[in-house]
Order: sequence, then structure tokens, then C-alpha cells
Amino acid sequence: MIIDDRFYDVIIVGTGAGGGTIARKLADAGKKILVLEQGEFTAKESSELVEDELFKKEDYHAPEQWYDRGGEPFFPQTKYCVGGNTKIYSGVLLRLREKDFEQVQHQEGISPAWGLTYEDFEPYYTAAEKLYQAHGKAGDDPTEPPRSQDFPLPPVDRIEQIKELGDRLTKYGLHPAYLPIGIGDEGRTDSEDTGVSPAIKAGGDITLKTSAKVVALHTNPTGTEVKGVQAEVNGQFYLFMSHIVVLSCGAINSAALLLRSQNEKYPNGLANSSDLVGRNLMKQLMTVILQQSPKPNTGLFQRSMQINDFYWGDEDFPYPMGHIQDSGGILQDVIFSESPPILSIAAKLMPGFGLKKLAKNSIGWWLQTEDLPDPQNRVYVEGEKLHLDYTPNNLEAHDRLLYRWQEVLKATDKKSRGIHPYGNAPIQVVAHQCGTCRFGSDPQSSVLDLNCRTHDVDNLYVVDSSFFPSSAAVSPMLTVIANALRVGDKLIERLR
Ligand SMILES: Cc1cc2nc3c(=O)[nH]c(=O)nc-3n(C[C@H](O)[C@H](O)[C@H](O)COP(=O)(O)OP(=O)(O)OC[C@H]3O[C@@H](n4cnc5c(N)ncnc54)[C@H](O)[C@@H]3O)c2cc1C
Repeated sequence: MIIDDRFYDVIIVGTGAGGGTIARKLADAGKKILVLEQGEFTAKESSELVEDELFKKEDYHAPEQWYDRGGEPFFPQTKYCVGGNTKIYSGVLLRLREKDFEQVQHQEGISPAWGLTYEDFEPYYTAAEKLYQAHGKAGDDPTEPPRSQDFPLPPVDRIEQIKELGDRLTKYGLHPAYLPIGIGDEGRTDSEDTGVSPAIKAGGDITLKTSAKVVALHTNPTGTEVKGVQAEVNGQFYLFMSHIVVLSCGAINSAALLLRSQNEKYPNGLANSSDLVGRNLMKQLMTVILQQSPKPNTGLFQRSMQINDFYWGDEDFPYPMGHIQDSGGILQDVIFSESPPILSIAAKLMPGFGLKKLAKNSIGWWLQTEDLPDPQNRVYVEGEKLHLDYTPNNLEAHDRLLYRWQEVLKATDKKSRGIHPYGNAPIQVVAHQCGTCRFGSDPQSSVLDLNCRTHDVDNLYVVDSSFFPSSAAVSPMLTVIANALRVGDKLIERLR
């Protein structure tokens, strides 16, 4: 093993929403940073892809297999590259609702409180929206939490068909609102463009190593500090050292890395005295509905509408149901990869239509419902194998949302030729993974403290979506970015 003779202030593992953001924050503050990313640089997703090839989207899956509860292998839908999943995300940048930070009764159980409030996150949400150039309109969604500032940029334009749908939904009594989206000059903003690259270009003391997979963290004999970060860089093992280590490998891979770094002091995995590392995995319940309309669209347009009228329930169902957003132009979107090939399934039901024609004559709707933390839903490792035991819960709330939305679509678009629902996303859809190292003030019931430092190991932090105590039903990424900025402030203070 080669021992790197530089000593860094901070080593950051992973360059997604959490890692890329905190790298920029710390580099701007003049810290000496090493960033280790197992992937390579990749081109931004083109919005002009219209070939049938797009429907396969192998590129959206990691080049490795994980194993489900029954021991069956699958290719997880997650991206390993500089920027992580922000390179393929859909651009949606939503704040959690105020009540999402509190304990909430769901039909199937309790969604726990976060230990911090919305007010604690608000300034960081504002900063995150600036960093990611969020386009939106304040005040048109009744569930929107209070904001200290308007969106940095105006909302994206809606295509005619979405405008018409919006008018009909309003007439029906709902509150369709603009969906906040992150777009810069070159398309959707991502953590390479907003985080890692500007930090390097600014000439700070930051070193990025790609094709650098961290395989273990080594502690001192008492287990109170990480002393070395072991990584495989282009086939060669290295040991890197720093004052502080920040993991941001994604909720599943960070948990796996901690579990693989077990030692005498932590036989069940590093920082795992609570036995909660890897547990409480959540990934939201997600369903896509295709609404076919005789009026064609280009198949290439941004997501622009959200409906949260059922977020906290419905007249006959006093429990949270979830969030709805349009899926954007179906030809450019990730609808194919986030679910099994939904268009292919729909195409079978509509013989003679063809995938492209079907896409151009459809509006997709993306339905998300909160799943609840369950310690039996978890990541664990067995040698090289990574297992995901995950059984979805809170299903009735999701079904209710699904049927209610179909009812709304039928009532508001009589010309619609058919709506094809596809059931809740399967195991390989881990896009909204979270919860595997939840934060809190009690070391018995959380892995991280409220600053995202592990309770057990003094210089070890986790800033990806692992820290979420609950999954909420809005998309998670803005909260990951905001939290990384928040933790960045704590680290700057600590290193001062
Ligand atoms: C198709 C898709 C669409 C999405 N759309 C949206 C959306 O519109 N809005 C939204 O809010 N969210 C969306 N998400 C979710 C969003 O992308 C994630 O919430 C966010 O990227 C999580 O950030 P992260 O830092 O936790 O991890 P990631 O972004 O997953 O980054 C983790 C990084 O760590 C690296 N890594 C992992 N293990 C190691 C290791 N051992 N050594 C070195 N490096 C390692 C990975 O290669 C990766 O680059 C989407 C996700 C997908 C997959």
C-alpha cells in the first residue's frame, strides 16, 4: 500500500449532491481538501436524445450487482461518476414541508421528528437554491413552507398542454403550482458544475482523485478517530490521512463502507454502536402514470408542475398521501430508468402506436409517497456482496394517491384516451434512498449527531442522504445540498 505523505484538513468521499457541495464550501474557506470519487468525469445528459436506445438507459445503472431480500441479484439504478446522481437527476429542487420536520402520524405508523426544525434549514435552503440556480414561483403552492427570499430565478415556461391541464385542475379546485427546477446555461445544474469544478478552478488547495474507490476507514486503537482512508486508485491501494473525514457515497454505499470498516473496537461496523448503520433504509414509494392525450407534444420539455393538494391527506383519508409532479417530456426524461420500461408496457397495450409516438402523445405523472423507517429495511454486507432488504410500507396511502389522481385526470381531461398506471417502483429504483445513518441527539437511537458527525468517532461525518430520519414525499436533493452547506459551516468553525 502506498502512503500518501500529504496531510489534509478534510478528506471527502464521493462527489454527489452532498460531497460536491461540501467540497466547494470548504475549498472556498481555504481548507486543504482531498476528494476521492470512484467514478470518472462524464458528459452531461443530453436533452436531445430521441433514439430508441434511450429507452434502455443502461448508463443509469451502476456497473455492479446488489442482492435483494430473496438473494436475487439486480443492477441498482445509481450513477458512479464525478457529480454522482446529480448528473442524471431530473432537476427538481424541493424544500421539505415544515411539518416534515415534525413527528407525523401516517396511516401505517409514525414518521419521526428530525431533531432540527425547518427554521434551522431555511437559510441553507435559500443558499442551496442560489447555488443550484433554482427556477420557481413563491407562494403558489399551499403546502410551501415560508421563505426568507424569493426563488433566485423565475419559473420555467410551461408547454401549452401543461398550461391547459393546469387550468382544468384549478377549475376542479386543486392548486397546481410551479415545480422548482435547477437549470443553468448548460442545462440542469449538477454538483460537478456547482461544486467540484468551480472549487478546483478557483485555485484553492483541493485535490480530486477519480477512479478512487474508498474500501476501508482505519481508526486509532481506541476507535475514537479515523486515522487513515484506504482507497483503490486505478488498481493500486493508497492510504490517505486527514483531520476530518466526510463520507458522501450515497445512503446505501456510505452505510456499506462503514459496515465494511469493522474492526476490533467496532465488530459490527464502524460507528455502529447503535446497530443502526444501514437500517431504516427508505426510498419513497413511486409510481408513474401515463396520461394519453390526442394533442401531441414535443416529448422534450422540462418538468414544470406539482400538485400537493393530497400531501397531507384527502377528505376521507386523514393521513399523508404524497406529492405529484409532471414527468417532463417523456423522450428526454428518466422515466424509463426510474421504473421498468413503462413505455414498452404501455406500448403493448396500445399496439401500433410505437414508443416515440406514444411518448409524444402522453403526459407522464410522477407520484411519490413517504415510506416509513423500519429497522428491518436495511443495507448489509456479506464479503463483497451488498444486500438490500427492503419491503415497502405505507402502501395504502400510495394507492389512495394513485387512484385519486386517476380520478382527477379522468374528471378533468375527458378527451384523454387512457391512463396506464404502473405499480410502485421495484427494488433497483434507489433514486431517493435515505435514512441509513439517521441523525439525532441520542446515540442509542441515531448514528450521527445533529451536526452529522458520528456519535462514536470524533472526526467522522456523513453528509449524503443517510442522515434523513424520515423520507418525506418531496424529492430529496435540495435537502442534501442544504444540509451539506450547514455541516460545512460547522466544519469551518471546528477547523478554525
Ligand atoms: C434518475 C434519478 C433522478 C433523480 N431526480 C431527482 C430530482 O429531480 N430531484 C431530487 O431532489 N432528487 C432526484 N434524485 C435523487 C438525487 O439524485 C439524490 O438525492 C442525490 O444525488 C443524493 O446525493 P448524495 O450526495 O447522497 O449521493 P450521490 O449523488 O449518489 O453521490 C454519491 C457519490 O459517491 C460516489 N461513491 C460511492 N461509493 C464510493 C466509494 N466507496 N469511494 C468513492 N466514491 C464513492 C459515487 O460514485 C457517487 O458519485 C434522482 C436520482 C436519480 C437516480
